[in-house]
Amino acid sequence: MIDKEKESELLESPSRRSFLGASSAALAAATFAGLTASAQQRENTREAESDHSSSDPGQENMPLLAENPDSNTPPPTDHGDIGPIWYSFDLARKRVEEGGWTHQVTQRELPPSTELTGVNMRLTRGSFRELHWHTADEWAIMLNGNARVTVLNPDGTIFIDDVSKGDLWFFPAGFPHSIQGLGPGDGCEFLLVFDEGMFSEDNTFLISAWVAHTPPEILTKNSNLDRSAIARLPKDELYIFPADLPGSLAQDKAAVGGKSVESSIQYTFKMSAMAPTVNTAGGEVRIVDSRNFPASKSIAAALVTLKPGGIRELHWHPNASEWQFYLAGKGRMTVFMPPTRARTMDFNANDVGYVPPVAGHYIENTGNTDLVFLEMFKADQYLDFSMNNWIRRLPPEMVTTHLNIDEAAIRKIPAEKQVVIAG
Ligand code: MN
Ligand code: MN
Repeated sequence: MIDKEKESELLESPSRRSFLGASSAALAAATFAGLTASAQQRENTREAESDHSSSDPGQENMPLLAENPDSNTPPPTDHGDIGPIWYSFDLARKRVEEGGWTHQVTQRELPPSTELTGVNMRLTRGSFRELHWHTADEWAIMLNGNARVTVLNPDGTIFIDDVSKGDLWFFPAGFPHSIQGLGPGDGCEFLLVFDEGMFSEDNTFLISAWVAHTPPEILTKNSNLDRSAIARLPKDELYIFPADLPGSLAQDKAAVGGKSVESSIQYTFKMSAMAPTVNTAGGEVRIVDSRNFPASKSIAAALVTLKPGGIRELHWHPNASEWQFYLAGKGRMTVFMPPTRARTMDFNANDVGYVPPVAGHYIENTGNTDLVFLEMFKADQYLDFSMNNWIRRLPPEMVTTHLNIDEAAIRKIPAEKQVVIAG
């Protein structure tokens, strides 16, 4: 949702300006305590409009500017270029099939994101994402509705489970699996995250395509299929296709052979039932990685809920780049890179954010509702450093020497990692 006041100001503005130079007055305004994010943005816009050099009398994409005011009128503290840190699933081509749809944000759309890729998919009630496998590990979170998933182990045991909103799954690379939309509602929608930048949802190994491209006499020799069975095999890929709802989970488990063929590895994680890892006045964080979800060996996640005005504190991650997905609300992020570069962008639901490896960043809730987003990492563990915690673990005189702040100011800085801080 767009801040109405901000939107009208942007739309009514006689000319739009990109803020090119940081004046000392603007820098002072940027450090003025107590301004709300939108008031600060208006201040930046006013400053930019009074700057003759940054005037922009020509054409503008006004809806896009209203969505991302920090991009066109950056805070005066922004500087230099760090490359793209924003994309949106709403810009990605949607592949619609009977039974659902899919679209993806990969390294093709967001070139710096070489470690992780996201796919947003919908399956209507009963519809399948076809039996398949692929080169990347697959992590997923249910965004809406219910689904049944299956995955086969190399030892021949099978895992079958049902997942609901907030639940996760993890399928290792090469392990064959399926997803089916369930009732009682109209199927489901979920986010898939793969640990390959150039992964493509359109290039997975499909069972239908394999049998269609195997000589029939081999299928007879290999699988005892007779001529009539071979004639009925699909001639083209199924990918996403409608089907009837399955029986109960217990019925399906019994139908495949019960306990004797059941996987000893748990490939789903009920995050919907998980207590927050961090719970402060600023919001909640749920961290899921190989320490509490052992199957998820290569992908770590944090689901962050920030209350209005709250911030995900200034921090960085030592072990991976960060791929973000925004589920709800409105926020902004500034990414800091050496030596003096910084870029601020605004994020809305269905947007993707990117933070280069070890780059400093914060995320602020700039809306009137909870901001909910995922921080995803190609890593076995979620790890982060807090700037506040770093400052407070050092002898105060060392901090004074570096930042020119006295001991009284230092003592006001939270000593422990807060993760989320109330506004
Ligand atoms: Mn898959
Ligand atoms: Mn982060």
